[in-house]
Amino acid sequence: MPEYEKIDGKAVAAKVLKETEATIAEMKAGGVTPGLAVVVVGDDPASHAYVNSKEKKCTDLGLHSVKIELPADTTQEKLLEVVAELNADDAVDGILVQSPPPKHIDEEAVVLAIDPAKDVDGFHPVNVAKLALEDSAGFVPCTPAGCQRLLMEYGIETEGANVVVLGRSMIVGKTLALLLMQNAKGANATVTVAHSRTKDVAAVSRGADILIAAIGRPHFVTADFVKEGAVVIDVGINRIEDASRKSGYRLVGDVDFDRVAPKCKAITPVPGGVGPMTIAMLMANTVKAAKMRRGI
Ligand code: NAP
Repeated sequence: MPEYEKIDGKAVAAKVLKETEATIAEMKAGGVTPGLAVVVVGDDPASHAYVNSKEKKCTDLGLHSVKIELPADTTQEKLLEVVAELNADDAVDGILVQSPPPKHIDEEAVVLAIDPAKDVDGFHPVNVAKLALEDSAGFVPCTPAGCQRLLMEYGIETEGANVVVLGRSMIVGKTLALLLMQNAKGANATVTVAHSRTKDVAAVSRGADILIAAIGRPHFVTADFVKEGAVVIDVGINRIEDASRKSGYRLVGDVDFDRVAPKCKAITPVPGGVGPMTIAMLMANTVKAAKMRRGI
């Protein structure tokens, strides 16, 4: 038996989804069906797979689901028109435009076009500002929210803890840092953010009670990054070649799990850690949007 605790993202995601499903059922009994619209532009198979799984999750939970698939040559103008229609559609509470769009699309302009009240991805500057201002009426991006929920569900104390976040993207690292430094439950951490210009990332990481890796480099975090008894959250999802698999690849995290885990108090695996939380938090954000928009 390993001494470390393996954090089970699938189980926590299932719990979040169950709670969300119960809230949706209550809302439906009151005559309101929350709705999520997902827009995908182009033929990227991974994007379509993500969108299909979001649609299925909506159906499973009883959400109203709108899937809009647009061809790869869709113009920016047309995409903005679609977003404007969804903004105006009262049956739609949440809007998500699957990333990445084709290269000719200005993704920032698309995010700006989404009504902040329907921005369940939490990428609109209004929601980023609300996060920084600790205004709980905003939407927190799903992956950082999922990481925080995992820590809370496993009773991992963040208050006063030294948290080191590897990565400073808006989607994960920077947002997670803002979230965990809030003066709030599940936060109150002392946060350090490391990035590609950080001197001696391993030494900085060793100062962490909770180390969160979100850099997109397979097995970057090795045992010498981790203090004995630390908690490690691995956000990374990286494909590496694996001739033994039919697909020719497998997914690994940013953390070298086999070597790091024995030093940890608790650690997330990849897959089955942070990954399943993202879609669960998206569903939860959609219900939050529906409640706020409809004054419930
Ligand atoms: P990203 O936008 O590429 O950002 C990567 C960050 O890591 C950047 O801030 C970069 O620093 C930093 N970095 C890169 N190499 C580094 C190094 N050698 N040392 C220190 N810092 C380094 O990636 P992302 O979108 O945040 O995603 C990160 C990972 O999480 C990816 O594997 C992605 O697939 C995964 N992810 C998972 C989920 C999920 O649902 N579980 C969701 C989103 C992303 P600079 O800023 O200096 O370039």
